[in-house]
Amino acid sequence: MSTQKIWRERIGRYRLIGQKCKGCGKVLFPKRLICPECGGRDFDEEQMPDVGKIVTYTTVYVGPKFLELDTPYIIAVIEFNNGVRVTTQVVDVDPKEVSTGKEVKLVYRKLQAEGKTGVIAYGYKAQLV
Ligand SMILES: [Zn+2]
Repeated sequence: MSTQKIWRERIGRYRLIGQKCKGCGKVLFPKRLICPECGGRDFDEEQMPDVGKIVTYTTVYVGPKFLELDTPYIIAVIEFNNGVRVTTQVVDVDPKEVSTGKEVKLVYRKLQAEGKTGVIAYGYKAQLV
């Protein structure tokens, strides 16, 4: 992967920019090469809404070790008003405060630190608003 591509993707994740299919109007996030709805390959950039709603969620008591997350934690499906659904962790929250219909925003966070090289992967997570 070229440095330029990594940089582009980093920007995409940070600013939470998705894409809108020119063929059928479906909004995709994260970006893809081909629209799963119509097979189109032409897209416009689309800024994701700041706030979405929790559609469903689950509390994880025993998670995979590599994620290095303190249990219990919440994994939620979040729906935005443009129809996009994202599955991610809800951070900085007491699991008791989480419920269906609550509003969340996506934030940029460390996902995991990788082994001896110390490479840290970043991505989006959700926070109650
Ligand atoms: Zn399409």
